[in-house]
Amino acid sequence: MSAYSEPSFRESVDLMFNRAVSLMDLAPGLEEKIRVCNATYTVRFGVRLRGQIHTFTGYRSVHSEHMEPVKGGIRYSPEVNQNEVEALAALMTYKCALVEAPFGGSKGGLCIDPRAWDEHELELITRRFAYELIKRDLINPSQNVPAPDMGTGEREMAWIADQYARMNTTDINSRACVTGKPLNAGGIAGRVEATGRGVQYALQEFFRDADGVKKSGLKGTLDGKRVIVQGLGNVGYHAAKFLSEEDGCKIIGIIERDGALVDESGLDVEAVKAWIAENGGVAGYPDAEHTISGNAVLENECDILIPAALEGVIHMGNAADIQAPLIIEAANGPVTAGADEILRKKGAVIIPDMYANAGGVTVSYFEWVKNLSHIRFGRMQRRQEEARHQLVVDELENLSQAVGNTWTLSPDFKQRYLRGADELELVRSGLDDTMRTAYQSMKEVWHSRNDVSDLRTAAYLVSIGKVAASYRAKGL
Ligand code: GLU
Repeated sequence: MSAYSEPSFRESVDLMFNRAVSLMDLAPGLEEKIRVCNATYTVRFGVRLRGQIHTFTGYRSVHSEHMEPVKGGIRYSPEVNQNEVEALAALMTYKCALVEAPFGGSKGGLCIDPRAWDEHELELITRRFAYELIKRDLINPSQNVPAPDMGTGEREMAWIADQYARMNTTDINSRACVTGKPLNAGGIAGRVEATGRGVQYALQEFFRDADGVKKSGLKGTLDGKRVIVQGLGNVGYHAAKFLSEEDGCKIIGIIERDGALVDESGLDVEAVKAWIAENGGVAGYPDAEHTISGNAVLENECDILIPAALEGVIHMGNAADIQAPLIIEAANGPVTAGADEILRKKGAVIIPDMYANAGGVTVSYFEWVKNLSHIRFGRMQRRQEEARHQLVVDELENLSQAVGNTWTLSPDFKQRYLRGADELELVRSGLDDTMRTAYQSMKEVWHSRNDVSDLRTAAYLVSIGKVAASYRAKGL
């Protein structure tokens, strides 16, 4: 990479990968095998809409099949291209390995502006795209399991699941062909919030790591930290909401397509979200200062910067001006390899995408397991757990009576202790555990190796190590 040219997204991922493997001792050839994208399928299909045939281009890329099924979302955006889909598929490989979701990496995309079509048209387009992928086993419960990404959500996943079921009428596991479905179509509680929730858990765990916090130059806990969020889509919205409502963070900036809102006293995330839903953007929002040059706000002074929109928003052109000491990559690839180098030299700490936004695929994993087991999490245990807790409470109350009621259990304790966990609580617990465990594995490398100065390299070392181990186990 020359000092002046910005690498493409895929080159960026490869450069970061290369940096990490140069510190590893991999068998000859294995490095190349892991880095390359196994296959990318391009499809062009026509759909008759508005009285004429419209041709759409879609991709499904499979980066690594060291574990199957391979996993990764499907993106709807006019900017989708092969380079992007392959970079995203590679990130899925490393992400799944890091959080121990037993999948290889894949990604799909359709070149389309979803806002240009109405719901019925989008359904026809989605079903046709799904048909093309299903007939080539590029959507399949045991081979390739898509999920939502930018521009897609529960609705599209429900159409894909139904399309698969229609084409595979005897497949009892058909619902496991895609994740991120609505609850009534085989989804799981907590999947919609999962990526944003994972960002919150990642930050909580980072702030438990005193050495890490020290490296960033920050102090204390999440409480009172001043946060700027770029993109109030599904991920950015949930991250900002949970951080402000539950961890005491102040959201002092929100950057959207049509500019940014800034308010040093803290923005009301729900109110901004509602305003965007009604007005299509942040402009005109009455309770904060609006600036038209949204991306300039990335450079504002703050404690934590959360790019939660597109790749490449922090690049060689603006990296030197970014003031945030801590950046958490809620989006995939928001910091280019060139910018990463500049920020590292400046001493900023970056919590890398493959870890920071892994909450989505983690809960997708739970959903896939739920679909294969055909039973909701907690259905067998919940009441039994409550009954056993009731036994303890009854016994304690008997003991209390025996000593003349000199002590009692508080009603709040009783209520909380007696309640058995429902699916949402179990999902959150599984996600929290996943985020903590993955952080610990990165942290160990980050703090113990002199040749590893950043979390991203640590994350790559851990995940490439896992992918390499599974190739070895296969005898490759
Ligand atoms: N599209 C999400 C991602 O980039 C989720 C993928 C999944 O759940 O399979 O991680």
